[in-house]
Amino acid sequence: MSNCENNDEPGHIALAHKHLYPNYAQPDLMMDRGKGSILWDESGRRYVDFFAGIAVSALGHGHPALVQALSEQAQKLIHLSNYFYTTPNAQLAAKLCSLTNMDRAFFCNSGTEANEASLKLTRRHFYDRGEKSREVILAFDNSFHGRTMGALAATGQPTYREGFGPIGGVVHAPYGDLEKVAQLMSDKVAGIIVEPIQGEGGVLPAPSGFLKGLRKICDDSGSLLMLDEIQTGIGRTGKFLGCDHENVRPDVLSLAKALGGGIPIGAMLCTEALSGSLPPGSHGCTYGGNPFASTAALTVLDVIQKEGLVERAATLGLRLEKELDKLVTQHACVNERRGQGLLQGLVVAKAKEGPAILLALREAGLLLTFAGGVSLRITPPLNITDAELDEGLALLDLVLGKFS
Ligand SMILES: *Cc1c(COP(=O)(O)O)cnc(C)c1O
Repeated sequence: MSNCENNDEPGHIALAHKHLYPNYAQPDLMMDRGKGSILWDESGRRYVDFFAGIAVSALGHGHPALVQALSEQAQKLIHLSNYFYTTPNAQLAAKLCSLTNMDRAFFCNSGTEANEASLKLTRRHFYDRGEKSREVILAFDNSFHGRTMGALAATGQPTYREGFGPIGGVVHAPYGDLEKVAQLMSDKVAGIIVEPIQGEGGVLPAPSGFLKGLRKICDDSGSLLMLDEIQTGIGRTGKFLGCDHENVRPDVLSLAKALGGGIPIGAMLCTEALSGSLPPGSHGCTYGGNPFASTAALTVLDVIQKEGLVERAATLGLRLEKELDKLVTQHACVNERRGQGLLQGLVVAKAKEGPAILLALREAGLLLTFAGGVSLRITPPLNITDAELDEGLALLDLVLGKFS
């Protein structure tokens, strides 16, 4: 179908075709606006949002509290760099430390940058202590930690790495395999980086006890535990952090995605013991922690608290699980449901069929993503209404029925 010719009278899609770098494969439609968990394109078509801009728009679209806080802050001060403190930034650091049980926060603009800070902090920590050969990072197969050269070295999926070598300094273990991790540990391992649920890898939760096991392995070997909660954090799984389900406290924590509700911001948090490992001049970020993005994050956290959205993610997640389990028994094109809270995946029986299912869902008016080449990933805004959730589930049922 060539939407481009039918609905593109202003020629905006043609502009995108001609001048945007073609490294994504966008469909021929122009998204225009959103309200709550509903989106509209320029031709006026309406979509239920089951992906929230890749698990970012935790408050949905156009949340009045976020709109108001941002317009007030924009009039006051948007940016001035880290040469000076600002109140929103200091308050955000304090709030995040209290919510995560960490002590220090460093701010940047994305998840990848948060992980870069985690990885650099971890290596530099041992370097400063004279353990200069303790520089290996242990990560996991099928993981996703970002696309800069450092974060990409940790990312354990060949498709993201192909053609970008040399990148290195990271060894990979099978996700969930504590025995293998123990075998790979030595006094050369500076730290382990891990996601509580592999989101980009296809919504694959760690087996229960895995994070606790890694915590113990790190304690025994003197290595640092870095948790990448960029996708699982900020309430997505029904607790504030994914690791809260196992009461594990990491040494280093990275957050991004939902943190700013759509305004770019990332955070690396760490314990007090690591507060000297990146001294002035060793690492930084021009935009990091600007008052505009900090205000966005403060407002997101405030609304999450006031509207009880972490608890809502837990209860709505249970309902979603039940409904998705039903779809798995009813439709042969999906054969497994996995995930936690409002981070759920439906594994497609024939992986090759995934993109076609995604397309059919979009044409029916439901937006979600296909993760890891295996799962239809469902990550709605945390404040999606019951009616919006039901509407999306009905579309899912309808479309999956056509593929079974
Ligand atoms: C999205 C994601 C990243 C990368 O974040 P960006 O903001 O795209 O740089 C890293 N780790 C995990 C677990 C993610 O889901």
